[in-house]
Amino acid sequence: MKVTAQGAVASNSSAPEPTPVPLLDLARQNGALEEEISAAIGEVCRSGQFVLGPPVRELEATVADYCGVKHAIGCASGSDSLLLALMALEVGPGDEVILPSFTFFATASAVWRLGAKIVFVDVDPDTYNIDAEQVATAVTSETKAIIPVHLFGQCADMEAICRIAAEHSIAVVEDAAQAIGAEHAGKRAGSMGDIGCFSFYPTKNLGAMGDGGMLTTNDDALADKLQLLRGHGMRPRYYHQEVGINSRLDSIQAAVINVKMPYLDQWSDARSENARRYTRLLTEAGLAEHIGLPGDAFAEGRDAGRHVWNQYTIRVPGGRRDELRSYLQSQQIGSEIYYPVPLHQQECFSSLADQADRLAETDRAAAEVLALPIFPELTAEEQQRVVDAIGKFYASAATDQAA
Ligand SMILES: *Cc1c(COP(=O)(O)O)cnc(C)c1O
Repeated sequence: MKVTAQGAVASNSSAPEPTPVPLLDLARQNGALEEEISAAIGEVCRSGQFVLGPPVRELEATVADYCGVKHAIGCASGSDSLLLALMALEVGPGDEVILPSFTFFATASAVWRLGAKIVFVDVDPDTYNIDAEQVATAVTSETKAIIPVHLFGQCADMEAICRIAAEHSIAVVEDAAQAIGAEHAGKRAGSMGDIGCFSFYPTKNLGAMGDGGMLTTNDDALADKLQLLRGHGMRPRYYHQEVGINSRLDSIQAAVINVKMPYLDQWSDARSENARRYTRLLTEAGLAEHIGLPGDAFAEGRDAGRHVWNQYTIRVPGGRRDELRSYLQSQQIGSEIYYPVPLHQQECFSSLADQADRLAETDRAAAEVLALPIFPELTAEEQQRVVDAIGKFYASAATDQAA
């Protein structure tokens, strides 16, 4: 059915079809760069250097410079970057690692895989980032590392976390998978801890056309070890100094990201503008009474930071989150729940379920959060449609109650 600009009702139908608003539309970004990306991939094909080739070295240099660190080391995924970081820090059985339960699975699986103990701490209900005060109380003599996650594109309270870590000689591994370019107190994500971990999964702010990851560090010895570990601990060829893994970055993925890298800041700015627009539109529509808007620590003057808005996450209280999501779906508006099941509730981590007592904010967040479309190419009209739909949802609820 063709809908006119006025949304006029065609004679053969009672209501106009709503125009879909996708949660994420990668085609808009990749389409605009298609020629550049094809050329870059073609060059890799002709070079025959498919693994850790020149585009990987180029990307490592660019990311190191962008993040303000001495070294960047490419690897196969964000998940592997976390595993490699902990391997380089020699985390193993008997060690404890402090991390949030409200995060993507990979943050915890890396710890588990190495036989160390996962110690979950709760999140700050405004930012969904790890609560530094609770990190301090969770430290024991066995604590080997802390993994703050810069969730949804906003840095955790790194000043406080690094202070606690320094006091107890604990390593800090930043899970910056969602936060490339984010800043805290003038420093970039990935430059504040001992090692920073990044992902180039397609839905991240800087996405490849497949999997990819990157590690950052200012420590020469750690950089060397990470390089060794990502390639089977082999140096020179067929002489193995350590038991490493195979986790190298493909030249083709690096070539794609090299094309995108110059646009990263303008994309982050566009996300930020979209976030501001949502907050304004939702507030003007009176919806801030019903839903919680994402806390931007910078806007609230709590720190000098830069939020890069990998997600715009609202809070839907009163047990109505899933209902709102279904309504948006019926209006062809995409949304997503990051994350519906906190990690301490996962079947594979059932032995950690006894940590639930101190994770009340994590459980509440998992029940209430809903991410709205926020990608850089999203239009103001599309955002208006999302806000109108949320408004209709609450208006009809009010009518139901009155009836
Ligand atoms: C995406 C993500 C990862 C894992 O990255 P992959 O490249 O998908 O392996 C780890 N941690 C967080 C917080 C993420 O969002």
